[in-house]
Amino acid sequence: MGGSGEVDASIQAFFPPTPQSSPAKRPPADDIGDGFTAEEIQVALQPKLPEPWHPPGKYTESDICDLRSGPKAVTFMGRICNLVDVANTPKTSRSARGCVKLCVKDETGATTVRLWYAHHVPALRLGSLVSIWTTHISDGENGTLSSTGAPLYASLFPERDRSCHLMLHENSDDGGMHKRPLGFRKGQPLAGLMTLQNFFDGGCDVPDARILVVVKSIGPKKRVTRKDETVTENINLTVQDDTAEAILGLWGSTAASPIGRPVSENNTNPEAIAAREGWKSGETVLLLQGPGCKLNRSTYLTLTSATIIDVDPDIPDAAWLRRWSVRQRSREAINLPFPEGVFDLAIIKSGPIRCLYTIAELDEFARAAPTETFQGYLSVLITEVKLIEYRKRLMLFSGECCSMPLYANDLVATCKGCEQKVVLRASPKIIGQVMDETAVVGPGRLLFSDRAWRSLLGREPAGLLELGEDEMKYLSDRLLFCRVTLLFGWTGDESVAGGRICVLDVTA
Ligand SMILES: [Zn+2]
Repeated sequence: MGGSGEVDASIQAFFPPTPQSSPAKRPPADDIGDGFTAEEIQVALQPKLPEPWHPPGKYTESDICDLRSGPKAVTFMGRICNLVDVANTPKTSRSARGCVKLCVKDETGATTVRLWYAHHVPALRLGSLVSIWTTHISDGENGTLSSTGAPLYASLFPERDRSCHLMLHENSDDGGMHKRPLGFRKGQPLAGLMTLQNFFDGGCDVPDARILVVVKSIGPKKRVTRKDETVTENINLTVQDDTAEAILGLWGSTAASPIGRPVSENNTNPEAIAAREGWKSGETVLLLQGPGCKLNRSTYLTLTSATIIDVDPDIPDAAWLRRWSVRQRSREAINLPFPEGVFDLAIIKSGPIRCLYTIAELDEFARAAPTETFQGYLSVLITEVKLIEYRKRLMLFSGECCSMPLYANDLVATCKGCEQKVVLRASPKIIGQVMDETAVVGPGRLLFSDRAWRSLLGREPAGLLELGEDEMKYLSDRLLFCRVTLLFGWTGDESVAGGRICVLDVTA
């Protein structure tokens, strides 16, 4: 029994309190409005969020290979491995605004899904994990309704038909499901897989030829007007393997696939964040089965409606290619950041063992123990200084963004790809060749730390920008044929310094 103190039984308790003051600022008499409050208008204008969907009956879970044509309530899961915008025709249902044709695959097979929409198009990307519920599977053999490699299809119009549904797994995609290519057997080579070079040398005529490439760079997204005045989107990726390089053109709805989407700030779910991430240059690996290849431009790849694309497939070859790409990038980088925490300057300077190497010995050590990390001293003669030349060519400072080199006589530059400001560092090549009695080190093969630059130049690298012509000439002459001692570190791990000699400090 509750005491009378806990319950306010008075009649006032049933009515919300009346506002103390009258509503602020009455609208002017001539603007009587339409009788709706601003709040009501706001609610009416907001697009209706799709209501959560619940299956209206029992759907049988199925692997894609077990789908059969005919009426049956089934549900299956897979990744989007192709996406084609279907042009509206006079036959298009008048209530639909458009249709996308998806190819969805799991590890057992692939099938076509035709998704009609009126208002709401899910943010579908190549590689997205989706679940489908449908009550009918059709056989599109010998037709254009499905892809040649996936003749069975499901036709969905979730906004009109509550018995079918497509769910995009954005908050529950841990990146691990359905990542194996079709026909993959552990320990066996993937059928039809060839190098990019072999593909261009005739392999493109082999049906279902497969190539495995890593994204080298992602170009800007463009809007392109076609001959018939319609507008479409396009993004060009540079892709490569260890034999060749090509452009992969993505058109229409697929052009959004490489680009990341913002994640709301309070979403800390790592799976949601990963699912919204874009493709990464140097890391994202694509397995293309039956890509289109423009014959007149042998290095231009496209997706045809029969292509199957696996994004970051879970196969050993993809892991190998990603590692190769990381090594390649640091080897080709024009101005790598100095590796932090790999070498210890204090030990070189004051440790009990201080090793003076010749360049030839360093080379010998590096070859004899390719995985070793070691450090010591090198006494070298600077035989080339390019300060004046690099200043004239506006290349004193350099950096890289979007896989494009950036040069300027400035500490920052704007990337032509993403239009972001990039911080530049002194170009390593302003010091050309150095040598000792045993060998030479070519331009760009030394990687200087900020401290090493200060010691060598006698000023912060930024100070180079303030030097007049005479002062620059003086500095350049002073460095040329100067004998200096380099406190260096070497690591056999090419992903760290790309096979360059890391200079931690310079002394006379
Ligand atoms: Zn950029």
